[in-house]
Amino acid sequence: MRILIIGEGGRESALAAKLHKDSRVTKMFFANGNATTDAIGKNVHLSEIKELRDFAIKEKVDLTIVGPEAPLVAGLKDEFKKHDLKVFGPDQKVASLEGSKAFSKKFMQTYDIKTAKAVVFDSYPDAKAYVQTQEYPLVVKASGLAGGKGVVICDTIEEAEATIHDFMIRRIYGDAGIQLVIEEYLQGFEASIIAFSNGEKLFPCIPVKDYKKAGNGDKGPNTGGMGSVAPSPEFTQEHYADFEKNILETTIKGLKGEGFSFKGIIFFGLMVTKKGTYLLEYNMRFGDPETQVLMALMENNLLDVINDCMNGKDIQLRFKDEKAVCLVMCSGGYPRNIETGFEIVGENKVKHSQLLYAGAIKKGDKVVSNGGRVLNLVATGATYDEARKKVYEDAIPVHFDYSFYREDIGKF
Ligand code: AMP
Repeated sequence: MRILIIGEGGRESALAAKLHKDSRVTKMFFANGNATTDAIGKNVHLSEIKELRDFAIKEKVDLTIVGPEAPLVAGLKDEFKKHDLKVFGPDQKVASLEGSKAFSKKFMQTYDIKTAKAVVFDSYPDAKAYVQTQEYPLVVKASGLAGGKGVVICDTIEEAEATIHDFMIRRIYGDAGIQLVIEEYLQGFEASIIAFSNGEKLFPCIPVKDYKKAGNGDKGPNTGGMGSVAPSPEFTQEHYADFEKNILETTIKGLKGEGFSFKGIIFFGLMVTKKGTYLLEYNMRFGDPETQVLMALMENNLLDVINDCMNGKDIQLRFKDEKAVCLVMCSGGYPRNIETGFEIVGENKVKHSQLLYAGAIKKGDKVVSNGGRVLNLVATGATYDEARKKVYEDAIPVHFDYSFYREDIGKF
């Protein structure tokens, strides 16, 4: 099989590393890829959907896996389908469950999916009037894709007013802020559940804990993810039962009700509060860095799982009875201003973990940083502590200028 993977993060490296072991995979292409994918396949520099389509036709690609959300929301699947090219991922309409928070919230409300109370606004005066009457904190969300920056937790009316002005009038995220979702603040802890879809049924993986804040003890700004742990130690069977009854089953009903059949991934971003498990958002693709720990524990052959889903067959997911920890090593300044282009050294001293490059590319015979999240160290163990010790021990010899990572990933 000839496979094209779209994306360039640690998530794509984890998927690629798993597929690379499969003898049926004869060639892998990556758009745009990174230093890990460079070593096991061919990186190509393409971003436009039409360029990707032409490349897939020319190279006789049998299967395309899409890492990030933007190409799906922009209609990659729809374009590929016209040319009988197979894509593991939803079409544009179904991808709107991620691409439009307004659409997604309406879907949740229509199908009684347990979520925060919210109102959708298209009008600036109406949104401004509404925030005068609410309790605080209050969450203001730009409906469209805003690179993970479109959610603001506002502590005061003034902050809410300024946020809606930024989104709707100043348009700091362009058209993404034309529509807003304003919702109640939920206090609790977060968990991620990634499920495979075969077009008919959903098959959830074990719950994962993602560390979103840049600093130790969950301090500092939000990031794309500083680390992950599977299974999440906080997410109990009771939380799972709540998720299953009030989110998973109602989502399946909703997908059927709307005629939303897709073969791909649906990711449930959850908040667990004293009142139970709530759905914050859907992502219609693999999570990063959730995928890294799931791939480390998944016993199934990934290609079989994807092929079975593509063929509408049922799957039985199996995960090792172990713990996995992923540590993300970042460029200094991330998630704000970063400098890149620094040589990475010491990788050959990594002994106990899987090293996956993310924002790192080959330059001649060197590997250099070229993004905020530069590389991941992933390890498994009988306990969280055992897995954690491995990644932290392996992080010591790996060096690039101004690098940093959180010290408390997997510490419970
Ligand atoms: P979203 O893209 O909707 O998942 O929001 C991004 C992040 O904002 C989430 O991972 C949470 O950390 C936070 N968040 C979103 N909605 C809420 C809410 N209703 N209450 C508290 N935090 C939230």
